Amino acid sequence: MKVALFGIDGKVGTVLHPALEAAGHEVVDGRDGVDGCDAAVDFTRPDAVSGNLDVCVRGGVPLVIGTSGFDVIQCDNVAQTAGIPCFYAPNFTLGAMLMMRFAEEASHTFERVEIVELHADTKVDAPSGTATATAERLPGETPIHSIRLPGLVAHQEVIFGGAGETLTIRHDTTSREAFVPGVLRALEAVRDLPPGLTIGLEQLPDGGS
Ligand code: NAP
Repeated sequence: MKVALFGIDGKVGTVLHPALEAAGHEVVDGRDGVDGCDAAVDFTRPDAVSGNLDVCVRGGVPLVIGTSGFDVIQCDNVAQTAGIPCFYAPNFTLGAMLMMRFAEEASHTFERVEIVELHADTKVDAPSGTATATAERLPGETPIHSIRLPGLVAHQEVIFGGAGETLTIRHDTTSREAFVPGVLRALEAVRDLPPGLTIGLEQLPDGGS
C-alpha cells in the first residue's frame, strides 16, 4: 500500500515510518500531498486534522487518525459527505483497549471511579483521547485528572473506590512501538469501512485483536 504519513517527523511518526516500510508499505510525507496513495495516516496535532482530512477528501484517500483532541463530529460529517472512510482510535495499543474493557466491567461492581492520565509535557491536549473514551464507557460523569511531565510517554490509571478497598487498572505505554500493530490493522481495514468516522480498534472487523 502507498501511505501518506502526516506527522512523519513527529515522535510517533519517526517510529511509524520505518515500521510501515518494514511491513511492506511505501511511505510518503503527507505534507507533499496524497496523490496516488491508497490510504493516509495522521499523527499531528488537533488543529491540523481537518486540513489534512480536506487533502484526503480532495484525493479520495481514506484516513487513519491517531491525533487526539480534534473535532470528531465535524470530521464524521465531512467524511460522510465526501463518501470517504476514516478511522480514529483514541489509543492504538492493545493494552489500552483491554484497560477500557476491564474498567467497564469493574464499573458494574464499584460505584465510585476517577481517572488519572499522565503524558509527556509536549502533549498539547487534555484530557487525553484515551481518558475521554474510557470515561464514555463508564456510568455518570467520571472525573479525569491530567498530568503533563517530561519523562512520561502515555499512562493511565482507572481507580475504583469502595468501602475499605480500591481497585486500580493501570496501563503504561513505555515505547511508541506499542502503537504500530494497531495502526497496521487500521490501515488494512480502513478502505472497507463505511463512509464517515469509525472510532475504536474494537470496531474493526477483527475486533482489534
Ligand atoms: P509530535 O511529536 O508533536 O509530532 C507531531 C508532528 O506533526 C510534528 O512533526 C509536526 O511538524 C507535524 N505536523 C503538525 N501539523 C502538521 C500538518 N498540518 N501536516 C503534517 N504534519 C504536521 O506529536 P506526537 O507525540 O507524535 O503525537 C502526535 C499526535 O498523536 C498527538 O495528538 C498525540 O496525542 C497523538 N497520539 C495518539 C496515539 C493513539 O494511540 N491514538 C498515540 C500517540 C500519540 P512541525 O513540528 O514541523 O509542525
